[in-house]
Amino acid sequence: MTKRAVSIYLTLIGSLLILVLGLYAASFLNRKPDSASFDSSHAYADVQTQVTFGARIPGSQGHAQIREWMRTELESAGWMVEIQQTERMGHPIYNIIAKRNTEPPQIILGAHYDTRMIADNDPDTTKRNEPVAGANDGASGVAVLLELARSLPDNSVPVWLVFFDAEDNGRIEGWDWILGSRAFVEEIPVQPQAVIIVDMIGDADLNIYLEQNSNVTIRTEIWSTAEKLGYGKQFINQEKFSMEDDHTPFLEAGIPAVDLIDFDYPYWHTTQDTPDKVSAESLQAVGDTLLNWIMEQTK
Ligand SMILES: [Zn+2]
Repeated sequence: MTKRAVSIYLTLIGSLLILVLGLYAASFLNRKPDSASFDSSHAYADVQTQVTFGARIPGSQGHAQIREWMRTELESAGWMVEIQQTERMGHPIYNIIAKRNTEPPQIILGAHYDTRMIADNDPDTTKRNEPVAGANDGASGVAVLLELARSLPDNSVPVWLVFFDAEDNGRIEGWDWILGSRAFVEEIPVQPQAVIIVDMIGDADLNIYLEQNSNVTIRTEIWSTAEKLGYGKQFINQEKFSMEDDHTPFLEAGIPAVDLIDFDYPYWHTTQDTPDKVSAESLQAVGDTLLNWIMEQTK
């Protein structure tokens, strides 16, 4: 190599280095702490993990297992976990409450973690006494909350994540719907400015309509955040269903609450509510929307 060639060579290497450093600096400066950190592949894996526990019916082994697992996941993400242990209609209730500090919550995000004890909507009548796997009805909401626990910046407004027990055994002798969230509202004296419930939001064909009983102001904000992020197809700006869900006890107590639910789920309360009906893309749409909406409250 001639002297001249060496100098050209060095100049080239130098320019390349500067270019690489420049690109690295630019990507660093462009990084927004409040977006795109929700990892839906992790959330989807959490759906699968929950289903491997078996049915999460109150009193079952799967129910005890999921409680231990949620605690571990939340604590390793830096959240403090408290259990509200009480009883309704003779059934023990365990609501799992996660917080990051001692401030009162401005926002509560909630999802039920129990699963329905019978698949009474199954098209095959011989399967109607079997439990549901609850991949969408149970696991999807829990998965989104757990991934939010990992990805929510810790400078956000104070948020509690509440995993409600005993939501899903209505229309069964000796039970009712939403026992866990009723117990929470009756016994835990908090006045959050907003409560958002996620339930059945993992359907691969995700269609979340405006739920009719939900607080209109907060509902509008969330749908507009979703639209801005490009999730207008999943968050449909039309009213459809009127639900009794874990938001109901909050609304009855005068606390603004919203239910995010896709109630057009053909496998609802059947043995076919399995992880293959859930998609990471749907979990991403809901996770991104909630993460960004929370950070909008924070600014
Ligand atoms: Zn259900």
